[in-house]
Amino acid sequence: MENTNEMTIIFDSRPVNEGLARVAVASFCTQLNPTLEEVADLKTAVSEAVTNCIIHGYEGKVHKIKVICRLNGRELTVDVIDEGVGIADVEKAMEPLFTTKPEKDRSGMGFTFMEAFMDEVSVDSEVGKGTTVHMKKIIRR
Ligand code: ATP
Ligand code: MG
Repeated sequence: MENTNEMTIIFDSRPVNEGLARVAVASFCTQLNPTLEEVADLKTAVSEAVTNCIIHGYEGKVHKIKVICRLNGRELTVDVIDEGVGIADVEKAMEPLFTTKPEKDRSGMGFTFMEAFMDEVSVDSEVGKGTTVHMKKIIRR
């Protein structure tokens, strides 16, 4: 198909790379002429997912995070993947205000923001193996 494009980036799970990931995804989608609001939404969702890999998935240790972006027509999908600790109860983890790190000032709103700013969010996770956050957004402009 003509109207497809794909990008994969792999980077260290360092907080400094959160900015890199959001800018890379935003740049990738500029070929669709998104609105500023769409770009802002996308950046927020990517930030939340990548921050979760750094803080929860790898618990501050430095390993690799992979972000895969795919365009199919006006549909953008973003997969944010870590090979960290995994999530035992995904349904519960996605509830608003649920956090396993209240002592670290987390508010438990990351997944809620991802769901608010993207058209679709699903999570695939296995304890001890890692987590994939799959997000989809139609760029309407
Ligand atoms: P906030 O995002 O508001 O700072 P939070 O990160 O705790 O707080 P969410 O992003 O909604 O809130 O995530 C909810 C919970 O899901 C986390 O507290 C954590 O237990 C679990 N979680 C999320 N992402 C991952 C991940 N990549 N690996 C392991 N656990 C995760
Ligand atoms: Mg979070």
